[in-house]
Amino acid sequence: MPHGELIASDNGARKPTVEDIPKAWKVLSEVMDPEVPVISVVDLGIVRTVSWEDGHLQVEITPTYSGCPATEVIEHDIRCALEGAGYRAPRLSQRLTPAWTTDWITDAGREALRQYGIAPPSGSSSKRSLLGEPLQITCPICGSEHTERLSQFGSTACKSLYRCIECREPFDYFKCI
Ligand SMILES: [Zn+2]
Repeated sequence: MPHGELIASDNGARKPTVEDIPKAWKVLSEVMDPEVPVISVVDLGIVRTVSWEDGHLQVEITPTYSGCPATEVIEHDIRCALEGAGYRAPRLSQRLTPAWTTDWITDAGREALRQYGIAPPSGSSSKRSLLGEPLQITCPICGSEHTERLSQFGSTACKSLYRCIECREPFDYFKCI
């Protein structure tokens, strides 16, 4: 028997149950972004589709942006969570178009960012690309709009470091892409 068939015969392929897709979404909603551990990959808006193909769960994600080092970690975490929930050999694929934008962050995700002390992205990213950097970033700590950018890069490459002029607290701003 060819080696490939031997592997294929033991890859856990099965028919889906009605529970499989909703349960997978629930598992994914508990996989946190490694950079911002209060927001799940679902609230971040990077999970495009969850389906069942060839006897396996198939998850399609759109990375926040290519070259974001967190993407590999996210894929690993998603795979581990799904395997831990009983999905055998889940398949992950990336869909690069349309590109992820911060518009895809859910309202729950924006609230989680705010509570974590990160200013959620404001406005739409398409507008942003026309206007450049946003003029007003609201301080997530005191709500003041008197803020200034200290550095283009915050604690990770996906964030900028800002400081509030009112309460003097530095904070990260999740960059619009
Ligand atoms: Zn403030």
